[in-house]
Order: sequence, then C-alpha cells, then structure tokens
Amino acid sequence: MFSQALLFASRSLIFKNSKYMIQDKSFSQKLFFHSSPPRRAIPPIIALVLTPIARIGAFLFGRNFRKWWKNLPPETRALYISRLRKQKNYFLGLFGALTTGGIAFYFTHLEEAPVTGRRRFVFVSEKSLLEISKFEFESFLVQFGSKALPPHHSIYKKVTAIANRILEANKDIEEIYHKQWSVTVFDQPDIANAAVLPSGAILVFSGLLDRCANEDEFAFVLAHELSHCIVGHNAELYSRTSVLNAIKIVLMGVCMALLPTDMTGILSYLFGSGTLTAAFELPYGRELEREADEVGLTLVARACYDTRYGAVFWEKMRLLEDIEMGIEIPDWISTHPANATRRDHLKGLEGSAAAVREVCKCPPLSDVDIEKEVEDFVRAVKEKHEKDRPVVLLQLPKRPVPSI
Ligand SMILES: [Zn+2]
Repeated sequence: MFSQALLFASRSLIFKNSKYMIQDKSFSQKLFFHSSPPRRAIPPIIALVLTPIARIGAFLFGRNFRKWWKNLPPETRALYISRLRKQKNYFLGLFGALTTGGIAFYFTHLEEAPVTGRRRFVFVSEKSLLEISKFEFESFLVQFGSKALPPHHSIYKKVTAIANRILEANKDIEEIYHKQWSVTVFDQPDIANAAVLPSGAILVFSGLLDRCANEDEFAFVLAHELSHCIVGHNAELYSRTSVLNAIKIVLMGVCMALLPTDMTGILSYLFGSGTLTAAFELPYGRELEREADEVGLTLVARACYDTRYGAVFWEKMRLLEDIEMGIEIPDWISTHPANATRRDHLKGLEGSAAAVREVCKCPPLSDVDIEKEVEDFVRAVKEKHEKDRPVVLLQLPKRPVPSI
C-alpha cells in the first residue's frame, strides 16, 4: 500500500553531493583503519553482559528472600504482614506512579517510522545505535576481516554496482540520501548472507551470490537488508528487547520469591518468559521481516529490477529448506515468517511493484519462464544433494567368535 505513497511522495531535497553513493575509496580506508582491535566497543559489551548478570541477580535475590521468609518465626511473619497492610496505600501509590511513568515513557517515545509511516516505540538514541553498529562492524572484521575482498575484485565491483543502482533510484528517501554507505564483501562461499548495519555498512558474504540465480534476485535480497536499515528496524528491536528483558528480570525475581520451590519458580519463569517471547517478540520480528520484504520490493522496482525474483528467492529458500532439512519451520515459533508465507506475500505485491516500474518508466519485464527456472534450480539442487549424500555402509552385527 505504501509502495505508492513512497513513489509519489514529493521530497524537496537538494543533491549537493553524492553522499548516498558508495565510494570504493571509503571502503579501503575503513577496512585498514578498523583492522586494529576495537577500542570503542565497551558500552555495547556492558549492555550485553548486564542483562544475564541482572537475571542471575534477580534469581538469587528471589531465592534468598523466599528462604529468609520461610525461616522467620510465624509471629514475625504476621508482624510484617500487618505492617504491609497498614502501608497498603503507600505501595498502591508507588505501583500507580510506576505504571503511569511507564505509560508516559511509552507514549512520549512513539514516533513515525521513515518510509512506511508506521507508529512505533523507540527510545534508543541515534548515537547509541551507531556505537552498537560500530561494534558489530568491528566484530565482523575481527572474524572475517582476512576474507574481505579488495575494491578492485570483480565480485566487490558487482555488489557495489547493484547497491549503487538501488541507492541512486531511491535517493529521494532522506534515510538513503543522508547516510554514508560503504560495502564490505567477504569471500566466504559457505555463508549465504548479507546485512546492512544502521551506520550504512553493507556486508555481503560471497555465498549469497552463489545462491542467487541472477542480479535481480541478489538486488532483492540486498534491498530487503537496506530496508531494515532505512526504516530503522534495529532501533525498534533494541528498544522492544530492552523493555522485555527488564520485565523478564522482574518476573524471575517474583517467581523465585513467591513460589514454594526452586523448581516451581524456574518452571513458572520459563513459562512466563516463553509466553512473553511468543506474544511480543516473535510476531513483532515477523512483522518487521514482512515490512522489509515489502519496502525492499519497492526499492528494486524503482531501480527497474525484475521484481518477480523476490517471490522466486523465497520459493527457492522454501525448496532448499525442504530438500536439505526435510521440514518447514512454522511461523509461530520463528522470528521470521515461513519462506512460503514470504513468497505468497511478495507474489501478492507483484501487481503494485509492476505499477511502480511503469511509473518509473522501466523497460517491460522479460518473457523468461520463471517457473521453469525454479524447476531447473530444484533439479540441480536435488542432484547435488544426492551426489553429496554420504554412502551408508551396512555393518554386520559383531558376534563373538564361536568357540569350538
Ligand atoms: Zn530481514
């Protein structure tokens, strides 16, 4: 729906420079500059370590409270209860103030998402997000830096050209125009993945290019990742996860303090925490994936790529999952929608994507037989799968040598 809104939104940006374009030079400087051990990565590490520590603290606090309470003489317990009852209004007031504060915090941190205009809760600052982004980028370099391809490599050039074509066609989006984009390609054929960090760092593993049949398919995947970045999904996820983590820490303390044994406390916590994840985290993650697919499709449509390959990509992923794993992971236990759901969603958007291409005066789509391409792909994967399958040698059961 917002594909049209995105297309017709008039933005009066003056293009003073080509900041949105990826410069080869910026990559090489970045790479060599960041190859030393990360130094500014401390705040995200602290945030990462603090959550489990706080959870352990809540566990110990709740447990010790329960034991202390159990060991109190009955008359002392009765005294505490009567004191609590007398101060009931004070505690109710405190609870009310905290709840009101929480609600006020939520509503004062609602904002409109770029591109889609969806209302969402975000409290993480741009600065913190960039710090996290920097830490993530450096972590990637520490792990895969030696595999980074130089800017003159043909794969690097190909990725940069596709990224630039998408960015150029969508430069009227402020979040694209004002970001300092860079590309890093890791020569890692066994990893078929890509990511775009909030800072604008585009990271691609070469295995992804092998998985994509053509440029259109790769462009869709890249545009999906770019969409996460320009819509600011990281800020949303970080905000939501932080709140849910805080609730889970309190839940841990309460379960361990109020339930009669360690086992019942832990089981109740696991049930409560799992329910929170299934109700608030997983559906939200799936919604963001869906949104990134939709925005990504519009980005590639505006760049005149063949948008049918969005659905083709997810159909191929579904078939691969089926061939390689033998099962399809259902939506409700996953942070991502099932591949078949994503394929159907994108197929449903093909009409509006075609309209976007038309308005952008793109050349008509080729009459290539997409169904046949998918069939050929499946056949090739099945053949490879059969060839690579380890030979199972039947072993005769070992019997003791009969004594004569
Ligand atoms: Zn995604």
